[in-house]
Amino acid sequence: MASLGLDPSLPPVRRFGSAVPGQLGARRAALAVAEPAAPPPPPRSLRQSAHPLARRWDAWCCRVEQRWAGRTLAVDLRSAVGTRGWFGGLGRLIALAAPALLCWPTLGPFDGAPLPMAGDPASAEWRAQAIRPFSLGASSGRHFAAGDAVARVDSVPERATITLTATLGENDDVAHMLQRIGLADRDADAVKALTASLGTPLPGTRFDVTLGPRAVVGDPRPLAALAFRPKFDLDVTITRSGGGLVMARQPIPVDTTPLHLTGKVGDSLYRAVRAAGASPDTVQAYLQAVDQYLAFDAILPDDQFELVFAHKRALKAQAADGPWAAGEDGELLYAGIIRDGKPLVQAMRWGNDGNFFTPDALADAAGGGNGLLAAPVAGNITSWFGMRRHPILGYVRMHSGVDFAAPYGSPIYAVTDGVVEYAGWHGGHGNYVRVAHGGGIDSGYGHMSRIIVGPGNRVARGQVIGYVGSTGLSTGPHLHYELFRNGQPVDPLSIRLVPHHTEVRPEEVAAFRARMRALLALPANGQQLAQR
Ligand SMILES: [Zn+2]
Repeated sequence: MASLGLDPSLPPVRRFGSAVPGQLGARRAALAVAEPAAPPPPPRSLRQSAHPLARRWDAWCCRVEQRWAGRTLAVDLRSAVGTRGWFGGLGRLIALAAPALLCWPTLGPFDGAPLPMAGDPASAEWRAQAIRPFSLGASSGRHFAAGDAVARVDSVPERATITLTATLGENDDVAHMLQRIGLADRDADAVKALTASLGTPLPGTRFDVTLGPRAVVGDPRPLAALAFRPKFDLDVTITRSGGGLVMARQPIPVDTTPLHLTGKVGDSLYRAVRAAGASPDTVQAYLQAVDQYLAFDAILPDDQFELVFAHKRALKAQAADGPWAAGEDGELLYAGIIRDGKPLVQAMRWGNDGNFFTPDALADAAGGGNGLLAAPVAGNITSWFGMRRHPILGYVRMHSGVDFAAPYGSPIYAVTDGVVEYAGWHGGHGNYVRVAHGGGIDSGYGHMSRIIVGPGNRVARGQVIGYVGSTGLSTGPHLHYELFRNGQPVDPLSIRLVPHHTEVRPEEVAAFRARMRALLALPANGQQLAQR
């Protein structure tokens, strides 16, 4: 073994700084044992060759390694402050950092092309050929001296009247705005006092102002007439009569025919309805109404959307008129989806609660109803349906139900009649019950402490099916309540609001159908506007 370790043809491979004095021989021996005894491998590098220079280099390396083995080049400057080693480390840090800092590049601004001087002939030529607005003095163009035909006049004749348009800005004041366009303070204050009863006009309101001739040169012009539209259905004019200003109101006739829009769903239902001309609020209401009866996933790009909403439109010649230009959208009246020419969903606003019903849902409500219970447990909602950060898993994911906080052991009720589909342990849901209610509606109840129904059991609306607990992925006693439509989780609160809590008389169903027929008979997509 020892003779193998001393074999000069097998020097061990060493790394700078890794050797430890005293252990060198042992490491050498261990490495040598690992090497095959014979034949010796051919020299691979300078340090492994038998050349005298290589041997000297190897010996020098060994000395350096032994000398530096016990030292640390990179000292932790937080510990042993003030010792010799600490100052050594600080010195090395400065010695290494200073050259790096000395090499820091200097960045300065780049030089641009020099600007031409004011008197430069080239810039004078530029200026002559440029077009300058009148408002800036229009000093461009070539100048010529006045000839014999030019006579000097003492005063410039003025226009008798000037017609201006001014638009009220954000945080602006009517009197200030009128003063800015040249009215005398007296007239501006008089207009403000006259129109005070109409309330503050909206920003963007346009004022058509006519200024009369001046009495004395240099005085501000007096107000001759002023017209603006302070309300959706009102025009106001102010004219000078006798010595003072008089205000007159003209009501604007308004068309309140609801707008009926239809079109292809395409890639995005939201964008399609917006593009058809509905306001963002109307689209929002439409999507909510549709969502109560149909999962968005079930809507196909080739389907048609259909909606009817209240709309006010002023019958006035000039359409582009400040804030009232586009008319006003009122509440959504009807929301539908059509597939292959047949209605898939037809939901219409009915009753004073603003709820949307399909003909079937209304008939169901009128017939006594099987509406869902408001809550399957007596407790407050602590987490709603939608994306949220999971309290245990820590990342954002879909919360496909609603959480009710309730004391441990509180009874959980079936929200409506149905058949128990599943009862038992269900992964993160813990003890879980799922009830099928028919019509594609299922409800699910999670984290129960105890289940008292079994699969196949028939349950009635309000029947106790189990008790609140904290089983599965849960931080404390609560009920995780889910609702499914055709297997898709839906927001339980949106469904709950539909058929119940609303008293519906059986004879209303016929009136509902008649109203829906009337709404859908409206010409679609603005054709009624074109007919006028
Ligand atoms: Zn939950």
